[in-house]
Amino acid sequence: MREAKREYIPNFEAFAHYTYADNVPFVARNYGTFGVHFSYDIFDGGKRRATLQVRDAQAAEAQENLARIRDEVQVRVEAAHNKLEQTEQMLAVSRELLAACEEASRVSAQGLEQGTYLRSQAVALKRVISGVHIVPMGMSNAYPIEDQDELTLIDAGYPGKEAAVLEAIRALGRSPDHLRNLIFTHGHPDHIGSAAAIVRETGAKTHMHPLDIPVAESGGPFRPLTPTPGLLGTVMCKLTYHPDKRVNPVAINQPLTDGETLAIAGGIEVIHAPGHCSGQVAFLWRPGQMLFVGDAGTNFMGIGDPVGFENLEEGRASQRKLANLSFDTVAFGHGKPIVHDAMTCVRNVWAQR
Ligand SMILES: [Zn+2]
Repeated sequence: MREAKREYIPNFEAFAHYTYADNVPFVARNYGTFGVHFSYDIFDGGKRRATLQVRDAQAAEAQENLARIRDEVQVRVEAAHNKLEQTEQMLAVSRELLAACEEASRVSAQGLEQGTYLRSQAVALKRVISGVHIVPMGMSNAYPIEDQDELTLIDAGYPGKEAAVLEAIRALGRSPDHLRNLIFTHGHPDHIGSAAAIVRETGAKTHMHPLDIPVAESGGPFRPLTPTPGLLGTVMCKLTYHPDKRVNPVAINQPLTDGETLAIAGGIEVIHAPGHCSGQVAFLWRPGQMLFVGDAGTNFMGIGDPVGFENLEEGRASQRKLANLSFDTVAFGHGKPIVHDAMTCVRNVWAQR
């Protein structure tokens, strides 16, 4: 509408040089001679009215278009806003979860300093099956396995968790030097973070797949992960995995080989299960028919994927491979172990991956 007005309401300055109708030079002296009204009559007439009608129609159409576009933009802005809100809510929940874990571990550490840790730890240390416990250490799990006087530990948690492990050893009625072997499912910060400190306190022998040994012995940086498809994977991967993180390096005494059975804790079979991490292995503890899958999967609200993969296809193949094993109980690097019908639960989710 503004365009139409600008074009058809004479501008006196411009009038001195051009007509409004067809841009024919309209010199200043003519303006002086005929005046505004006269020039209007000369150049108006049917052509101007017709053009005005066309312009009116165009202006109305433009206004309609504008209204439609405004509606569309409104809808898109609302959709984007909703998505943003959802993401923000999910981020907030994840942050709260992490904060709660940090707080729990801070309180535990404080309890240890004040000498109250042993009691609370003894209550918190959970038996999974006969001979296997789970050390509560925030977001990741470590599992001591008892074999007469000797202890074997699967994974070593985030940095700063050595106190929880040492207290778990005492709660089991053993001393630190009873921990003979520390076996790693893979070389990520949340599984080797406290390893150096635990080895220093216990003298345990360390075992890891050769593909992850260099990163454990350097203490990082770590290989990048591609977040597991989906919003939750993206958010959790960003929050929990930082490839540039550094941990205390830990020397590895023994490389693990796919298919071998370690002569410790009555026999532990090693199954290479890459995908999340190229040096990822699972352990099958023969005496208890218990499978430790590390981060080949998780069990928070049901059996699921890790937060990310180095290679998704390999990860799926590993999940299928693990689903074909025979076991009674399954334990994860993150989330709860499954004690009843574990093999069926795993097969239902992973056999068809
Ligand atoms: Zn992990």
